Amino acid sequence: MSEERSLNFLEEIIENDIAAGKNNGRVHTRFPPEPNGYLHIGHATSICLNFGLARKYNGKCNLRFDDTNPVTEETEYVESIKNDIKWLGFEWDGEYYASDYFETLYEYAVTLIKKGFAYVDDSTAEEIAEMKGNLNTPGKESPCRSRSIEENLRLFEEMRDGKYKDGEKTLRAKIDMAHPNLLLRDPLMYRIKHEHHHRTGDQWCIYPMYDFAHGQSDSIEEITHSICTLEFIHHRPLYDWFIEQLGIFPSHQYEFARRNLTYTVMSKRKLLQLVNEKHVSGWNDPRMPTISGMRRRGYPAAALRQFSDTIGIARRENIVDIAMLEFCVRENLNKTSNRVMAVLDPVKLVITNYPEGKEDIFDAGNNPEDPNGGTRQVPFSRELWIEREDFMEVAAKKYFRLAPGNMVRLKSAYIVQCTGCLKDDAGNITEVHCTYLPESKSGHDTSGLTVKGTIHWVSVPHARTAEVRMYDRLFRIEDPSNEEGNFKDYINPDSMNVLPGVYIEPALAGAKPGEAVQFMRKGYFCVDTESTPDKLIFNRTVTLKDAWVKEVKKG
Ligand code: ATP
Ligand code: MG
Repeated sequence: MSEERSLNFLEEIIENDIAAGKNNGRVHTRFPPEPNGYLHIGHATSICLNFGLARKYNGKCNLRFDDTNPVTEETEYVESIKNDIKWLGFEWDGEYYASDYFETLYEYAVTLIKKGFAYVDDSTAEEIAEMKGNLNTPGKESPCRSRSIEENLRLFEEMRDGKYKDGEKTLRAKIDMAHPNLLLRDPLMYRIKHEHHHRTGDQWCIYPMYDFAHGQSDSIEEITHSICTLEFIHHRPLYDWFIEQLGIFPSHQYEFARRNLTYTVMSKRKLLQLVNEKHVSGWNDPRMPTISGMRRRGYPAAALRQFSDTIGIARRENIVDIAMLEFCVRENLNKTSNRVMAVLDPVKLVITNYPEGKEDIFDAGNNPEDPNGGTRQVPFSRELWIEREDFMEVAAKKYFRLAPGNMVRLKSAYIVQCTGCLKDDAGNITEVHCTYLPESKSGHDTSGLTVKGTIHWVSVPHARTAEVRMYDRLFRIEDPSNEEGNFKDYINPDSMNVLPGVYIEPALAGAKPGEAVQFMRKGYFCVDTESTPDKLIFNRTVTLKDAWVKEVKKG
């Protein structure tokens, strides 16, 4: 895609490390999700980055579940994460779980106690917070800080054995209560949680904190480049401190900027709220910024990879316009999806000089972008469905579609001339009438006419009915997380519009979930996972053009 682009800062670091012979030129990264939700498009960036670097430098990339918090983690999430990574096109070298290291981490903690670098504290969470101090004031040392090594060893073992209740004791690193970096003021290493863990069950009632699990897990796996998002930059000295005191493999942490997207929220905690409070149908609702939602919506994996690559890796927090992502989606779908006809808002067109009972079968090309795309058969008859908006009783200026007297081409078929319409008592148009020019057959046109408009259609007796779900932005404003009040106040009430009676070509009758098509002039659509042969359901993946920008400017 971007062979010519210059190296990003991580590639520069890696190339320098390789040149210097660091780790014998070995590159080993990891993607470390916490299995507390489904992955979102921000994670996709991290996946493409970590797996991409490993691929580029002939290295390895592990998948490591950062499952140190038993309360929020579930096996369902583990499965969805694996599925999403595979779908994105990556394979991990090793599948690991931080929980597999609980015993080793416990031993590491014992090592630190023995070296006088860790102690058991009886202070409550509030007391610990109070004694922390702030940027201007040094913290206060806990009275437990001077406990003997023997006592600490005994108490820590008792913590493990379940002698204490949640919150009654913690294990803390003994660093410096006056350290300018607050994270180094005797950070917590272990807390007591009598909770069932999705993998270790009830084996443990003490769980390591992120800071005493992540770096150690990296080290156990001999990760060379541990890439995380910028909010961990102040944790790096602690990451290094633990590794140094333990004398274990020196993994290094590098930070890049979290990637956000306009008109959505990205934190799993917020996405979980949308799911639990039923603002969406689930984690894989096609409006969700999750990988599974985007897959169901019809976004190709290649588009997500392209998006991750084109926006590059930044050092500063940034919010990317969702239009960029949609651009990548369109570019991919344009090359791969077949063009078909579907009428979303139907009105009947009657060709009064086309004999009743007669039909034509047209061979229509599937994809002008793909010479090997083949053709399909499209039946034509006297009565067709067309879009209501393709007829006007009184043509507006520059309206080149159907209006009394106007001529248009019916895509892949004939030129017709509009002769009028029928209405019901309420004045609604019930039928549009026209005549056709037999000599104007597409591909064999001898009429000598050129017309300015081409419209799509579906033959009434041959049409199948489908439900089409039209999607729009989930939020009304660009950055709902950054706004006053609750992000949920900014949910777009019109983010989904269901069209129950859409007419589609019979060629689509057997379309399978996941199949992507372009409904000519209407956008890219895909068959939803809930679709069945008896009830076809399509999702609108993306419009053909970015209509939103115009809408906003119009106000
Ligand atoms: P969230 O805040 O959405 O729950 P998280 O960072 O807690 O995200 P993890 O499961 O810990 O989620 O993330 C796994 C990896 O993905 C981490 O290395 C994290 O830095 C990265 N990551 C998460 N969100 C983003 C994002 N928006 N942009 C880039 N990388 C991200
Ligand atoms: Mg996290």
